Amino acid sequence: MTIEYKYEHFLVRAIGLEGVEAKRYVAQVVGMLRALDSLRTGRAVQTFIRAASQWTRVQPYDGRGGPCNAWGGGNNDGGSIFFTPLTFAKAPCASSGAAGNTPMEILMHELVHVVRVISGNWLKGSVTKGDEELIAVMITNILSSELNRCLRGGYGSFPCVNSPIGEYQTSYYKAYLPLIETVHKQNQSLARVLARIDVPFNPIRMYYQRTQPGVW
Ligand SMILES: [Zn+2]
Repeated sequence: MTIEYKYEHFLVRAIGLEGVEAKRYVAQVVGMLRALDSLRTGRAVQTFIRAASQWTRVQPYDGRGGPCNAWGGGNNDGGSIFFTPLTFAKAPCASSGAAGNTPMEILMHELVHVVRVISGNWLKGSVTKGDEELIAVMITNILSSELNRCLRGGYGSFPCVNSPIGEYQTSYYKAYLPLIETVHKQNQSLARVLARIDVPFNPIRMYYQRTQPGVW
């Protein structure tokens, strides 16, 4: 029998694990979801998921994308995440950089994918798979900034951004304005909450400050 636990709109299932390992998995993941909920960026994303009528299922990472990975997405039935907290700590890619690859940041990245899917915006319009990854990296970087962690410079590896954060944000804003606008247009309820988070790196806040004074 699969050990599982319902936590708000999440169904955490220890598929493929037995006994103590299964209980530990469920406890770790639920603990991480609760911890993320105590951070402003994590709470914004989870509030959106809570408001959805569907479940988001979380189960151990199945290795489909190589040893160093996790999956997040879903379908018409709801959100789906394949994630094992220590995959990254054990895998070789943990040494490829220091940004964005703590278990909390990886889970956050997958939660952003879930939001995009359950809001019906995954690959919507001209949005590409690469854009979806960049959206997840951008919102996870807001969390990393909230945690005083270094920022992830892009998708595919985990090097820290080493330019001063203000400079990086200004150049990021110029380079990725269409992507920021996409988040604002397609996930407006989430974007408005994220824009209120006053942390050193928050290009969504910058967008609202520059374009929507008084509206948020
Ligand atoms: Zn991703």
